[in-house]
Amino acid sequence: MPANNQFDMPIAIALHGGAGTILRSEMSPEKEVQYTHALKDALHAAYQHLLDHGSALDAVEIAVTMLEDCPLFNAGKGSVFTAEGKHEMDASIMEGRNRSAGAISLVTGVKNPIRLARLVMEKSEHVFLAGSGAMEFARKMKCDFADETYFFDRFRYDQWQKIKDTQSFQLDHSVNTDQEKPKKMGTVGAVACDVQGNIAAATSTGGMTNKRWGRIGDSPVIGSGTYAHNLTCAVSCTGSGEYFLRGVVAYDVSCLIEYKNYSLAQACQEVILQRLLELGGDGGLVAVNAKGEVSMTFNTEGMYRASKSPLGETIAIYDA
Ligand code: ASP
Repeated sequence: MPANNQFDMPIAIALHGGAGTILRSEMSPEKEVQYTHALKDALHAAYQHLLDHGSALDAVEIAVTMLEDCPLFNAGKGSVFTAEGKHEMDASIMEGRNRSAGAISLVTGVKNPIRLARLVMEKSEHVFLAGSGAMEFARKMKCDFADETYFFDRFRYDQWQKIKDTQSFQLDHSVNTDQEKPKKMGTVGAVACDVQGNIAAATSTGGMTNKRWGRIGDSPVIGSGTYAHNLTCAVSCTGSGEYFLRGVVAYDVSCLIEYKNYSLAQACQEVILQRLLELGGDGGLVAVNAKGEVSMTFNTEGMYRASKSPLGETIAIYDA
């Protein structure tokens, strides 16, 4: 019997809009307000859905879709430029109840990649579709497409122009001093726990500016960028994708809870603040469990993040 008083519900939502070298000194007050509003709008819409006894799966899709529609983040509309001047997007979604999952990679022109990932999960017999095949599936599913003008953003275009004829690639709107360590990531993601105690996770990204060769990061890879299992946790990651892939980060958090009985907070801290750092990776994650506990852990200077549960609301950008 679902609880009626919100304080009796274990509901929770947490979301991120990327992690990296996000410094107060480099942020204008106007930009800070824009980011805060964008996070808050997505947070409140998803939370309201949970309050109305909606599912965690719908809640993460609502949050990620809203962040994909916002040009501030490197996903959907705000996706960065590839070496060929296109936008290639990756996304994944997972439901903790039955561990069903859907993922897509290297799609262009799809307005909301997270919806396509969910359609892969629910309407195909597969988990992961990529490139032209994924787009053929999107057309078959009657997904919304948009032309290049929809995805055009002056800031991201200028960013790409600076490194376009080089071998460099970088994560989102970073000013990179060290090409091996991208400094700012704008991927978006959400995790949620609903009134039934089901949890879900979703992640969406445009990847890296000037990326080539069909480069794919962790975001669409189940276990690395996204994972959900009702027994343990739901996780969405953001950061230097190559390291998150090698660390199988999202699943690693789940394993520490399942095999070593760690709390959610302990598992997130061990993976992000120890294991990932040992590999040389930077970034962070948001996670929830079926009790409605939340963790937002990162090893960078900042992470665009927000969470809400009956215990309260957090919207933050910088570390501390
Ligand atoms: N993890 C993403 C990737 O490597 C980037 C990000 O988090 O911003 O594609």
